[in-house]
Amino acid sequence: GTRIFDPMTTALVSYAEFRYHEQAGERIVDLLKEPIMPGEQEPPNNSKLELHQVTFGYLEKAVLKDVSISFENDAFTALVGPSGSGKSTILRLLARFYDPNEGTVRMGGEDISKMDPEALLRKVSMVFQDVYLFQDTIANNIRFGNIDASQQMIEDAAKQACCHEFIIKLPNGYDTLVGEGGSTLSGGEKQRISIARAMLKDAPIVMLDEATASLDPENEEEIQKAINRLIRGKTVIAIAHRLKTIQKANRIIVLNEGQIVEQGRHGELLALGGLYARMWSLQQETSGWGISSKQG
Ligand code: ATP
Repeated sequence: GTRIFDPMTTALVSYAEFRYHEQAGERIVDLLKEPIMPGEQEPPNNSKLELHQVTFGYLEKAVLKDVSISFENDAFTALVGPSGSGKSTILRLLARFYDPNEGTVRMGGEDISKMDPEALLRKVSMVFQDVYLFQDTIANNIRFGNIDASQQMIEDAAKQACCHEFIIKLPNGYDTLVGEGGSTLSGGEKQRISIARAMLKDAPIVMLDEATASLDPENEEEIQKAINRLIRGKTVIAIAHRLKTIQKANRIIVLNEGQIVEQGRHGELLALGGLYARMWSLQQETSGWGISSKQG
């Protein structure tokens, strides 16, 4: 068939997913028009990400203020904090959708603004709550993760991501058209498609934005299973809204109004009795998430 993807489009899938609920396609189009500067470096093999004294604002107001974070390789780092504290902004800077006003974002110790953006995005898989599906077949929507993937590789990724079962029940299976005007998929199904895409991409860094909307328990279990397979052995940076999902994180970074106010493991932060501990106890009171106390 016709070759419908070019490498830039593939890199942009991450971008599209990121921007989807904000500005639809506008910025994607802008980015496509932006020439890639010749001579920009390939990202280094060591893909350790860092924010170094980063200050950033979309407009005049700074939404991140002198933030430094080093994301350890192969660790699970969770970003938590109230709405508007800057969690998503950190992921956007790490993937270089924006450049900081002050400070640098580094990969393997080098400033990412000196790297080829397409090559940078190849290092990163993104799984978000609002998933961008192209008006195309299911198979092609997964293939965006790796344009050279065979049908077998696509199906394997779909199986790993708990998608295969629902896909084969669709009228045309993997050839079913989705996206605008195509078959309608549930939120959970779309999310699993994006996990399959990320599986196929197999990038060393995985960025997760946990869903805020609650899914039915079955869907939630399937998604959790798929995510656990996806992140095995990867560097993970996750925005967490429900603190119960990050109790085992290697490090939790607590943001408030664009600054890091606490960091540590779940137990350490509870013992600190600060913002994290307050958020935690609030979630215990206001939700029925069934974290039963093991005392007594
Ligand atoms: P939430 O948990 O609600 O998603 P967050 O911690 O991820 O919040 P950000 O999305 O990073 O917060 O937003 C930080 C601040 O930047 C907020 O005040 C927000 O209104 C503002 N902001 C975010 N995106 C933009 C944008 N594209 N243009 C202007 N301001 C923005």
